[in-house]
Amino acid sequence: MFIAGYLTFSSRFWTVILRATSAEKRETAQRFFLGATPLAMMLLLLFAVYHDPINEAMYMNLALFVVAYPLFDNVTGGGFLYRCLVLASFWLIYAHDSLQTVAISLALLIAVCLSTWVWHETVHYAWWASLSIGLVISGGFWALQTAQPVAIAWGGVMAYMLINLFAFIYWSNAHNNFVEQGQLETRANFDALTGLRGYAAFRSSLEEYFQQVRKTGAELTLVMLDIDDFKAINDRYGHMAGNSVLVSVARLLEDTLQVNSGVSRHVYRTGGEEFNVIFPQQTPDAIRGEVEACWQAVRDAHFEYDGKQLHVTISVGVTALQPGDHDIDSLYRRADNNLYQSKRQGRDTITIEGQTMQTSDRRVLMMPYTYFTQPVIDTDTGAVVHNELLVRTFSQTAGAWVPARTITMTIEAHIGLVQATLKQLPVRNINLNVARDQYMNERVIRRITEFARNNSDIDTLTLEVNQLPAPADFVRVAQLYHESGVQILLDGVGSALTDLQVQPVLKAVDALKFDLKAFSAADVWPTAAQWRDIAASSHKRFVLKGVTHAAQVTRGRELGVVEMQGPYFSEPVLPEID
Ligand code: GH3
Ligand code: MG
Ligand code: MG
Repeated sequence: MFIAGYLTFSSRFWTVILRATSAEKRETAQRFFLGATPLAMMLLLLFAVYHDPINEAMYMNLALFVVAYPLFDNVTGGGFLYRCLVLASFWLIYAHDSLQTVAISLALLIAVCLSTWVWHETVHYAWWASLSIGLVISGGFWALQTAQPVAIAWGGVMAYMLINLFAFIYWSNAHNNFVEQGQLETRANFDALTGLRGYAAFRSSLEEYFQQVRKTGAELTLVMLDIDDFKAINDRYGHMAGNSVLVSVARLLEDTLQVNSGVSRHVYRTGGEEFNVIFPQQTPDAIRGEVEACWQAVRDAHFEYDGKQLHVTISVGVTALQPGDHDIDSLYRRADNNLYQSKRQGRDTITIEGQTMQTSDRRVLMMPYTYFTQPVIDTDTGAVVHNELLVRTFSQTAGAWVPARTITMTIEAHIGLVQATLKQLPVRNINLNVARDQYMNERVIRRITEFARNNSDIDTLTLEVNQLPAPADFVRVAQLYHESGVQILLDGVGSALTDLQVQPVLKAVDALKFDLKAFSAADVWPTAAQWRDIAASSHKRFVLKGVTHAAQVTRGRELGVVEMQGPYFSEPVLPEID
């Protein structure tokens, strides 16, 4: 009964020590147990011997166990040495033999201590090792008790071995339970996929910090992060790819936080693709840098899965505990609201206490643009002869789609649009507007001529130009384009391009386009007639653009113009943007 009680007490005590949350608490409890318990027990038993000498042998055995058993405790250094000393002093109190025998038995004792020290795990968990140690301790101890009858000494050894066996069974059972419980706890607290702490652990940590703040009035900040459009990753690349991204994001977040704060911060996976980080004793301002580093690290990362590069962004909500928060749910809800605000503002951003990071601070300003083709009609037959590719950009100030002349799209983007257009239109004569610098740019020249030569889908590619470089340069470059079958059209003759500009380069172009909208009602038709004559005399195609009414068609045809273009023939419906 005594041994059972002692073992229960000591294993309870160790459980408390191992579960203690702070290292400081753990150490104090350990010191207390080390110092006080075995000594107190030993003294109690010595006192029992004094009062009840008939059962001396039994008390001695119990006391021996009480001082020997702590050798198996999981301690190192000073703690272990201390246990050895307690055991040795008890040993020496009862040493009633010649100095020689005592020396031999002490040597045995030291051997026991050393092997327990070196093979701690084996002695602790293997029955044969535990029983051997027990045998050496009891044999060595009882061999010294020459004051006792031999039968008592043998009885002492046997009784000690029984206690030892009982203690071993008790201990291994308790240990297995402890390990099993630990495994269950891990399973409940940690997420199997990412290895991060899960929702249950998050709730209990947050609760713990919350109680601390209540007592000490310290700060506490909660950061909630959610992967943007994660469903799309699953849909596009499969669930396994999604899982792999989750694992990578989790690791990246932990690594980034570690690097940036030096403190180990816990990331919790609190939902499918939602994570939380608790920052005890921190204000949102203080951790802003760390949060931004996480956000940036994720958006810069390329996750590889099955040879594919996956790219994701996260939205973040940050909030601090406020005096009015009565429980952790108020805090959690506010973090969620901040996160939701990030989502609403277009995702890929951070909201701290209702302030969403300005997109222009951090992100490339988004330029909404759209494109469409406007047909050039042969008014003799009504057939489409060319398609002009037009790009519109949405002007926030005007609140409308405006010609995208001022933004210079890359030539690759232009060519991409031409290709998309070619797939959808039956007439494969495409007109493309290029700015003056692009027209002259060597790389652009190379890309366009290559495209025209190698793309068999396109019949004629015509470049429309409405700003001219120096005539000599223009003519030289036009020559390069012509060699690859690309045609050149001067857009806005008489308005955007003056007579003086056009004349020197006229020979190098294939067509002229006249903009009806650029002239007053009085001037428009006489000027159109002049340019028609210029075109006719140099054998260039002539197109009227900006045709809005049937009357203009009739008037143009009277001048002998065939090709026309404008809203009268077709008008695109552009998307509405608010
Ligand atoms: P939002 O930007 O609004 O957060 O959009 P979202 O698509 O990320 O959010 P939503 O909540 O609509 O979708 C989350 C998806 O995450 C739905 C679910 O299929 C997926 N998901 C949740 N847990 C896991 C998981 O463990 N593995 C994988 N692969 N997908 C998961
Ligand atoms: Mg999401
Ligand atoms: Mg989510």
